[in-house]
Amino acid sequence: MKNSTTQLLDAAQKIQQNAYAPYSKFKVGAAILANDNQVYTGCNIENASYPLGQCAEAGAIAAMIAAGTTHIDEVLVISPNDDICPPCGGCRQKLREFGDSNTIIHMATAKGEIQSINLAELLPLAFEKSNLLDE
Ligand SMILES: [Zn+2]
Repeated sequence: MKNSTTQLLDAAQKIQQNAYAPYSKFKVGAAILANDNQVYTGCNIENASYPLGQCAEAGAIAAMIAAGTTHIDEVLVISPNDDICPPCGGCRQKLREFGDSNTIIHMATAKGEIQSINLAELLPLAFEKSNLLDE
C-alpha cells in the first residue's frame, strides 16, 4: 500500500469513530489528500429530520475548503462493514467539483481492504464547470 494511502486510511478510521449516526448506525469516515499535501477529514452526520443528514465526504470537502485549498488529489472513504462504501451520487458530483479525472478514490472496508478507482471511472460523463462557463 502506498504511503499516502496508509495515511488516509489511518485518518479516515480515526474520524469514523466520531460519526454521528444514531439512526442508521452506519458510521462512515472520509479523508482527502489535497494538493497542499494536507489531509482533511470528515464523518457522516445524521439528523432526526433524515434528509438533513450529511455524508462524510461533504465534511472532508468542507474542511479542505475552509483551509483555503480547492483540489483533491486522493480521497479514501471507509465503510463500517465488510463491503466497500462507494460514494453516493451526490458525493460523486461534490468530489468532481474539486477533483479531476485522475483523482483517486479509495474505498475501504472496515478491515482496511481497499479498492481504488479514479474519478473518471466513478463519475463518467460528469457535469462540470466547463458545462457552465464559456471558456
Ligand atoms: Zn454521499
